Amino acid sequence: MTEPVAILRAQYAVARALAESGSLGEATPSILREVCAALAWDVGVLWRVDAASHELRFVDFWSRPGVKTAEFEAECRARMFGIGEGLPGRVLRDARPAWITDVQADPNFPRAPIAMEPGLRAAFAFPVRLGNHVFGVMEFFSRESREPDEELLSVMEGIGSQVGQYDVRRRAEAELADAHARLAQQHAALEDANRRLSELAITDVLTGIPNQRAFRLRLEALLAEGVRGRKFALAIADIDQFKLLNDAHGHPAGDDVLRAVATTLRDGLRRTDFVARYGGEEFAILLVDVDLEKAVEVVEVLRRRVSGIANPWRRVTASFGVADFGLGRNKGDSLFEAADKALYRAKRRGRNRVEAAPLKRKIASPKAAIAKKKKGSRRPKPSKKRR
Ligand code: GH3
Ligand code: MG
Ligand code: MG
Repeated sequence: MTEPVAILRAQYAVARALAESGSLGEATPSILREVCAALAWDVGVLWRVDAASHELRFVDFWSRPGVKTAEFEAECRARMFGIGEGLPGRVLRDARPAWITDVQADPNFPRAPIAMEPGLRAAFAFPVRLGNHVFGVMEFFSRESREPDEELLSVMEGIGSQVGQYDVRRRAEAELADAHARLAQQHAALEDANRRLSELAITDVLTGIPNQRAFRLRLEALLAEGVRGRKFALAIADIDQFKLLNDAHGHPAGDDVLRAVATTLRDGLRRTDFVARYGGEEFAILLVDVDLEKAVEVVEVLRRRVSGIANPWRRVTASFGVADFGLGRNKGDSLFEAADKALYRAKRRGRNRVEAAPLKRKIASPKAAIAKKKKGSRRPKPSKKRR
């Protein structure tokens, strides 16, 4: 009979080993050692059911120092036990603990010859299980022959369930963590793809600068800021007589010039400003925190830079129309129309120049308005369409 206190000690040691470990693999060396120590047994072996063959495969081994188990351990490592075969196979088949008083006298103990050297006699084993499902076997050996101890076996059976529950839970947790990690990876890849997609959606393929869609988004945001008092201006650039270049030197040459103009404009701007390819050979530029005068100055620099672009074909120049946000130009359409009209004027007046939209009118006082009416005001002629 095993002392109840020894059984308690074994139970406690198993519980602690499980609590302190992250997986059954981590816990088994100390479970085998602690159970042997608490119960004064000499060897402990853990077997796990192989998922493919449904046989028991060696997992772990512990033996008391000084006991000569090298060959016995090697034999355990090397072999598998089928259902019903040997002590582990019996436990697997019956799904309940088993006891052997003396392995040398047992008809179903194939390892008996090698158990001779360390002098192993008594053995007991119990299933590691969850409910009826056995997925491992733990076996223990003593160098003394011992009579079956039902009390010990029943406690060990409980330990087998405890270890089994723990193993299943930990494996489920590990699988969950794995699934989480895979999900996180997929999520990151998806986000990356989405980012690239949305970048593509707002980037002009030919020049690599933002496209018209990006411009519209930016303008929309700026219009809202403009209403709150932020100053900004819009410039439209149009390459001069680009068709002639295309016609004379081919489309690829034209594409090269488009790319050169795009980068020249982009590189000539502050980080807070913005340039997009609006379409064809036209670019839209947004300059923030500037009045009309300052905007014209900046655009004039851009114009000079464009006219300095080195290329093997005809000289590249562009015309620019500039308008600032404000009275009568506080909507996307009206602001764009004002800049476009100015651009048209730049074309008319000889190209390679910057023209600004007329300065904004002050709100007329009622008196002045009446006086003006009497004089007969001249309506501005509607502008001709540029194209
Ligand atoms: P203007 O000075 O009055 O602006 O004359 P223009 O020749 O530049 O203007 P027009 O509108 O007559 O011609 C614009 C040309 O731009 C016609 C079109 O083939 C060319 N174009 C538009 N998009 C591209 C492009 O992606 N690549 C090339 N190579 N050419 C393009
Ligand atoms: Mg054009
Ligand atoms: Mg043009």
